[in-house]
Amino acid sequence: MAYWRTMLDGAGVRATRRRVLVLDVLAPHARPVTVGRLHAELRARGEQIGLTTVYRAVSSLVDAGLVHVFGRTGEAAYRLCDPARHHHLVCRVCGLVVERFGEDDLDGFLAEEVYGVCPLCVGDQDGTFHAGATAP
Ligand SMILES: [Zn+2]
Ligand SMILES: [Zn+2]
Repeated sequence: MAYWRTMLDGAGVRATRRRVLVLDVLAPHARPVTVGRLHAELRARGEQIGLTTVYRAVSSLVDAGLVHVFGRTGEAAYRLCDPARHHHLVCRVCGLVVERFGEDDLDGFLAEEVYGVCPLCVGDQDGTFHAGATAP
């Protein structure tokens, strides 16, 4: 919790309890999650918090640059990211997102998201998803 407060202070965002809670449930996810999922997890923890409140908290974290948005063509999903500039390697099979730092210049294109298949999915010979690929 203290870590989140320091992080929010660094980003110039007031460390409200709601924001800290959202960071707490968002942090373990390597794959982007929807606001609905975060809300369900918070409710499961016994937090009396509304969906709109979760959405607002997430939006403020996005504005602060701490959380990145995925799935621009479908339902928005969110992931806690490093504040340092990076782009994303996104597995199109399991949705895993890996942050990649540095200036990767691809023929003049500044990469934001690069889609492919992650090593775990490439190694998945029998066609079933690897452990952790499907959300419980
Ligand atoms: Zn990111
Ligand atoms: Zn994968």
